[in-house]
Amino acid sequence: MSDYCKPYERVDEALELLWLFKEEGHKDLKRFHLSSEDADVKSLIDELTKEGLASVDADSIQLTDKGGELAKKLIRRHRLAERLFTDVFDLSHDIVEEDACKMEHILSEELTDSVCTFLGHPTTCPHGKHIPRGECCKKYQMDVKPVVMRLTDFEVSRKGRIVFITPSDASRISRLSSIGIIPGTIIKLIQKRPSIVLQIDETTIAIDPELGREIFVKNVV
Ligand SMILES: [Zn+2]
Ligand SMILES: [Zn+2]
Repeated sequence: MSDYCKPYERVDEALELLWLFKEEGHKDLKRFHLSSEDADVKSLIDELTKEGLASVDADSIQLTDKGGELAKKLIRRHRLAERLFTDVFDLSHDIVEEDACKMEHILSEELTDSVCTFLGHPTTCPHGKHIPRGECCKKYQMDVKPVVMRLTDFEVSRKGRIVFITPSDASRISRLSSIGIIPGTIIKLIQKRPSIVLQIDETTIAIDPELGREIFVKNVV
């Protein structure tokens, strides 16, 4: 984890580190000492074993079942937060990392599942790492499409409801609203190239494809 994670609970950070070890397929105690950013790794390991979260022998350390369950949830929240900030809000890498580190400690399970559903149960984070599955993913295994997506990812000839707009240029909002592109509006996507063509009621509107990336819609069935 990065420096940003430092102020947060040491046990959580240790659990995540051990989860990464598991993903990399090793349980190297020496590497744990080297990789941990904790000021007192020895007492950290004592705490982990006392709480039954990790088991240690001569030169190895690994998560127990209990520790693994907790680590899986932390990693899931962290990677979903990364996806949310990167895909939906286009935030820079530093901000994504900092806020993902905060979110992993505070998101409730329900909210985590809502974020997961909103994003269409993504399987990987922006770094290509696996996002552990949650209850919501099991329930909606068949539903792989995100609930809300960019207009540019929307299917031609489908109807959708505009959920929100994230303009890079604030002056666009008023121009968009003057042509009826506001949250709540039902649109039908007519074409995506060379420009995006939408139908709102009986009116056909063409917009810049670049703008289509800033408009988020939800399927209307
Ligand atoms: Zn990541
Ligand atoms: Zn899910």
